[in-house]
Amino acid sequence: MLVREMIKTGESRLLKAHCMDPWLDAELLYYYLTGTDRVGLFLQAKQPVDEDLQKAYFDLISQREKRIPLQHITGTQEFMGLTFQVNPDVLIPRQDTEILVEEAARMIRGDNPSVRQRRTWKVLDLCCGSGAIGISLARVCENLKVSASDYSAKALETAKINAEKNHVKPRFYQGDLYAAVGKRRYDMIASNPPYIRSHMIPILQDEVKLHEPMMALDGGEDGLDFYRRIIKEAPEHLRSRGVLILEIGHDQAEDVSGLIRQTGAFTKVHIVKDLAGHDRVVYASALY
Ligand code: GLN
Repeated sequence: MLVREMIKTGESRLLKAHCMDPWLDAELLYYYLTGTDRVGLFLQAKQPVDEDLQKAYFDLISQREKRIPLQHITGTQEFMGLTFQVNPDVLIPRQDTEILVEEAARMIRGDNPSVRQRRTWKVLDLCCGSGAIGISLARVCENLKVSASDYSAKALETAKINAEKNHVKPRFYQGDLYAAVGKRRYDMIASNPPYIRSHMIPILQDEVKLHEPMMALDGGEDGLDFYRRIIKEAPEHLRSRGVLILEIGHDQAEDVSGLIRQTGAFTKVHIVKDLAGHDRVVYASALY
């Protein structure tokens, strides 16, 4: 069997298993296994594969056929140009979340006139999961001290590994939302909380609903359970004119903005769209 025939076979097996990107995944698993890249594959395409490699490759294909996420097979996901270790204890960082990080980074650098400028920022990544938000912010901005908290002790273990791998030193706290940080206050609270409506969980892709932590996805009946709690208590954990910045589902901007307004404790609510043109991030500054 030639390399390209092997990959073609992998692709058709993934297609039959209803994977979203069979062609891409079949190639990516080959790169992962052999440490090669596109150019390497181009050069190797017509070479015969030995039996060991074939066995190892189809073993990976069998895992992916079971709809195990590609990132759980390779153990990593790129986010903001950094590599994050992932496993079933943490949500795999999504590209959508880079919108939140970029928006927050603009504020921290002083490029957003609607928020108060500060020399240094104390930032809390609330519900940090893999640590993607806090760790990447710490890497793209120099003037911040980052803390990260999560309810899941196992998620925090992964976040700690990711911090170390990416050479940042956040403070970590375990606990139920703000209970984790006691009475501490921050210049910015950033969060990508669970926001999927419970009744929508069954229609998610198998990769997500069977292999990713439900705890990081399920936002309760209307998807807003965590926003209610995060927003209500945010004023007690923000410093003067501090910023609350949240990732939201594409149809949640109105509800989440409404919750922020209801507190009477914030200035105007801003909505930021993702690259697909969907509402993805909301932020507001504390009034006092
Ligand atoms: N964006 C994720 C998804 O659609 C959900 C993330 C979350 O609930 N915070 O799978």
